[in-house]
Amino acid sequence: MAQYNSPILPQFTADFACNCLDKQVVMSKLTILRYPDSRLYTKAKPVSKVDDRIRQLAQDMAETMYDAPGIGLAATQVDVHEELIIIDISETRDALQVFINPKLVWTEGLAEREEGCLSVPGIYDKVRRAERIRVRALNLEGKPFELEAEGLLAVCIQHEMDHLLGKVFVQYLSPLKQTRIRSKLKKRQRETM
Ligand SMILES: [Zn+2]
Repeated sequence: MAQYNSPILPQFTADFACNCLDKQVVMSKLTILRYPDSRLYTKAKPVSKVDDRIRQLAQDMAETMYDAPGIGLAATQVDVHEELIIIDISETRDALQVFINPKLVWTEGLAEREEGCLSVPGIYDKVRRAERIRVRALNLEGKPFELEAEGLLAVCIQHEMDHLLGKVFVQYLSPLKQTRIRSKLKKRQRETM
């Protein structure tokens, strides 16, 4: 997933730039749930109020994602079942994007890309998703914004939004592949215990 298609349309960049995260604030790393942990199948509830608790959660999730390292993380993956996802697909790792209560406004086309997931370490496989999307969400100030995305960003947003629905990307794969992945991860867990 190294390809970067510059998916953020210029007219949305200004609205979307997130300067809300204060790097001085203490952040703590959270534990990422590993597939097939049943808590990953929990459907998240909308965030009712964007307050300091949510901003702290986003910061802790960012710390966790950068440390992993990964390019996206959903609150579901850290066992918080509220609709919050964070993404940073920049090579410089300094362009955090936060989506609260994200909804797809429209989708267009289909594209297949190899995906990976911090909850399914070391497993990569192709998933077919919408090629272009428009997403509506709240930012960390609780203000609504819309964003059009394609390429890696579109994939990442859809992947993380699936987590909020309790869905992990391996569920798009054949039952045989899913069984193989589960036994591989269980074996690896035993080896590292
Ligand atoms: Zn994931």
